[in-house]
Amino acid sequence: MALERTWLRHYPDQVPASLDYDNKTLQAYLKEAAHTFPNKEALDFLGKTMTYQEVYDEALRLANQLELLGVKKGDRVAIMLANCPQAVICYYGALLAGAIVVQTNPLYVEREIEHQMNDSGAKVMICLDILFPRVEKIRGNSSLEHVIVTSVKDYLPFPKSVVYPFVQKKQKGIKVDIHYNEQTHRLKTMLASGQAVEPDVSVNPKEDVALLQYTGGTTGPAKGVMLTHFNLVSNTLQAGAWMYRMREGEERTLAALPFFHVYGMTVVMNFSIMYRSKMIILPKFDPVQALKAIDKHDITIFPGTPTMYIGLINEPSMKNYDLSSIKVCLSGSAPLPLDVQERFEKISGGKLVEGYGLTETSPVVLSIPIWGKRKVGSIGVPWPDTEAAILSAETGESADNGEIGEIIVKGPQVMSGYWNQPEETAAVFKEDWFLTGDMGYQDEDGYFYIVDRKKDMIIAGGFNIYPREVEEVLYEHESVQEAAVIGVPDPYRGETVKAFIVLKENQRLTGGELQAFTRERLASFKVPRLFEFRDELPKTMIGKVLRRVLVEEEKKKIKEE
Ligand code: AMP
Repeated sequence: MALERTWLRHYPDQVPASLDYDNKTLQAYLKEAAHTFPNKEALDFLGKTMTYQEVYDEALRLANQLELLGVKKGDRVAIMLANCPQAVICYYGALLAGAIVVQTNPLYVEREIEHQMNDSGAKVMICLDILFPRVEKIRGNSSLEHVIVTSVKDYLPFPKSVVYPFVQKKQKGIKVDIHYNEQTHRLKTMLASGQAVEPDVSVNPKEDVALLQYTGGTTGPAKGVMLTHFNLVSNTLQAGAWMYRMREGEERTLAALPFFHVYGMTVVMNFSIMYRSKMIILPKFDPVQALKAIDKHDITIFPGTPTMYIGLINEPSMKNYDLSSIKVCLSGSAPLPLDVQERFEKISGGKLVEGYGLTETSPVVLSIPIWGKRKVGSIGVPWPDTEAAILSAETGESADNGEIGEIIVKGPQVMSGYWNQPEETAAVFKEDWFLTGDMGYQDEDGYFYIVDRKKDMIIAGGFNIYPREVEEVLYEHESVQEAAVIGVPDPYRGETVKAFIVLKENQRLTGGELQAFTRERLASFKVPRLFEFRDELPKTMIGKVLRRVLVEEEKKKIKEE
């Protein structure tokens, strides 16, 4: 599809119900951008800029070096980076080599990295030097053959405040000593000697997986969601047509969402590259830095999470910045409070709408139409070529308006399945509908509303936390007899993790001690902030802990306060 055609066809008034989709790979868009806009700036990172040609050439050099390391089509290459130019280069470089990218959260601790490497069978890992000690620890127990290290100083030094969230407490201040050899490589050296020549690999966009994005934990360890090039290209084209109605080559996107998360990857990184925008990369979200960037770079598109918009409207200096360049903001991954939306729009002048999606759907399936009817509390209507419905638990058919059931969807952005998990895959598909696991309803205008998560996932500060995973770690403590974890409302993070603990007889333990124990074993965002010790937990007749009762008790407490 010629991108321009979409704009001519649908611009300026209507939103398209259907699009033509290119049968192209993600990397083909970077290549085209480098040919048509070679000198256009693709990104800005703390003042350092790179053109489309430069980004493409660096990606090609990496692709060639990966080939020399033995990476072949379909091999998995893990990337564990914070937002920086290397994150873009490595993502596209791995794709150019024909590899499947495995996005690894830089906050993961060793146990989580080890599971992900072995489950995906990743051959190569590219990580920041400050994360290297964690990778090195699990390397011997994993499938990894090569580790490529990039320094925070390779492009520009990250300020300490940016680096530290990704560093474990005990690691702070420790100099990372890396011994480069046949298995441990330095990215900078590799790129300096790599050739900017396109590797000879043929990728089928419809069939071939571009990415394994890990999600889950409700029914066991995290699963790798297989997203094809077609899935990701489709969702990006849908975003372009539905959300942004932007001018190709003229937009400026704020890259505050992490690229290792499917939302930041599609709606910011792939989107910017496919529409030849300029990405202003923030290594970490900070309200003042974001406001400065919007003002200085005349940002037109700013996808974020409710937590980010809450941070901005509560920043006293917000009124000192000129935010009038903002055209569109998309809020996703968790519910957006109406008051936040209104206050943000009032101060910035830009439109802020809510969208909904999941890792399994690349991620966006629904959003409020920017130019159409906006409804309070709704997550919107389906994007082009996307169908959504409510599955009635009673009839197994489509529910009536207003009836609560499971939200089910289909569209070109829906995953091909979970990596090596045919049974888990079969369980989330009913015919060709994907079962989201979220409960919701539809109103008479076809707008969707989410009421609860069928799965008990907690979303704190934009990060997803699965209670069972945290509970399993709590159970590992010798004094803990029983544990139940839930999310409790938190005005800033949306939700925060609370653990209910029953101790073994004659045991003594404080919340602080248990917190320190969990901190050693889980990424910090999963660590419970609140602990409550009880004599027993509410349970079903067969002894299953009733998390929902605990949730209700917490809600009641808040109401009474
Ligand atoms: P993930 O797979 O990590 O992207 O998480 C997907 C889950 O996030 C969905 O199943 C929903 O439960 C939740 N979610 C996404 N968008 C929204 C939204 N706008 N409002 C409420 N929950 C959301």
